[in-house]
Amino acid sequence: MDTLEMRCWDGHVLPGERINSPDPLFKCPACDKNLFIQETSGSLARDGGVRAKLDFWNYLKRVLPAAFFEERVSMGEGGTKLVDSTVNQGDAGERACFKDESQNPTRSYRDRAAALLVTHARILHCKEVFCASTGNMGASVSAYAARAGLVARIFSDRSIDIGKKAQIKTYGGVLFDSYPSMNDGMDDCLKHQMAEGGYQATAEFNPLSMLAQKSIAYEIVSDGFVPDEVYISIGNGGTLFSLWQGFDDLRASGAIPSTPRMIGASLSTEGPRISPLKESKYSQRDLMENAIKESGGDQITITEGEITGAISTLARAEGLFVEPATAAAYAALKKRANRESGLKRVVILTGTGLKAPSVIDALISKAPNSDLFVQTKMNLRLKILEQLQHAGPAGLHGYRIHASILEDIQCTKQAVYHHLKQMEEKNFVVVIARDEQGRTIYQLTEKGKEVLDLLSRLVDLF
Ligand SMILES: [Zn+2]
Repeated sequence: MDTLEMRCWDGHVLPGERINSPDPLFKCPACDKNLFIQETSGSLARDGGVRAKLDFWNYLKRVLPAAFFEERVSMGEGGTKLVDSTVNQGDAGERACFKDESQNPTRSYRDRAAALLVTHARILHCKEVFCASTGNMGASVSAYAARAGLVARIFSDRSIDIGKKAQIKTYGGVLFDSYPSMNDGMDDCLKHQMAEGGYQATAEFNPLSMLAQKSIAYEIVSDGFVPDEVYISIGNGGTLFSLWQGFDDLRASGAIPSTPRMIGASLSTEGPRISPLKESKYSQRDLMENAIKESGGDQITITEGEITGAISTLARAEGLFVEPATAAAYAALKKRANRESGLKRVVILTGTGLKAPSVIDALISKAPNSDLFVQTKMNLRLKILEQLQHAGPAGLHGYRIHASILEDIQCTKQAVYHHLKQMEEKNFVVVIARDEQGRTIYQLTEKGKEVLDLLSRLVDLF
């Protein structure tokens, strides 16, 4: 086993054994900052990173005490395949490919960290795991906790993607998603975990999560691909930093000639609930910015329109259906692709589009032609959804909706009923009853609420 050490964000060094003591350290005792783990020996990269095929647990086996391997909670996470791009292959030596993390058991890269953290919780005999997450980590932790027979308590904000919410609840996770922001959710998660004594499985708080994510870098190189540039979407910055650490270990050990340029993609403005790009006060941006600088990389700003285009191209030219946040990384590649030829590039696709189906539906429906007709139609649907939101659980019938809308937009009753019918087919509204006059009463669905929120933001753009 290689020697491990833990460092805090201010550079204080602690012995690595503390990670598996009965009372694991999650904060630096000297300055209270978060910790990350570093291997101090290069043998890991030299022997395992290139000569042997490294799967996720074989990598961890080399750096962590044996108990982690023996007690592992696993569903075959990691070892995801590199997928060659169909459109970005150019001159000799040039190659672009995708590290498709949607191949993981719950369809996101967070399964790596969740498998390791839930294993750790089991080793420490914890009965409950606490995790603050915008969704993917919450879904992963819920699944692995279910497998280990532990209770998962997940703290998220109100804008959690519908697919992630469904996963958490179905895996039996206890979801608290009424927080106005992730900062509140993370504060509460810490508070409850400290008071109730369970395991802290929030990616930003637990140094093992970065170790798990580093395995992505090892797998890419172990698959025989040595990238010049790595593209990744950034939220709190921890994932980009983890990958950079992995590549930098490989460079230090001589397994690869240099650390690839790390290219981080972020949204230009607050996007339409593209959740993993949100930043919290527990941001790891300092580490991330340092990693980008050290690697000679770049941080690229992506607009909402570019994300929509990237989702579309990935699906229509590559056959890959990804969540909006992850599409930002591909949008960044498209922006830089022509700058320099002959490079090897890899785009990290963090999760599947099924995590945020209604957001993608709305983005793609809007994309093909944003002419006046589409805008008028969108505006009318927005008004109808707004009326239903005002009505709440009691719902409304079409006549009443039409009467209220007429104050703002000229339209026929038939048009209102036509749109209600179409939105019913898409599950944005649902028929809850008929009143005494036989009129159909409609109510807004959860999916409808999500789309209304998104539409309001889109209309604000015009
Ligand atoms: Zn410190």
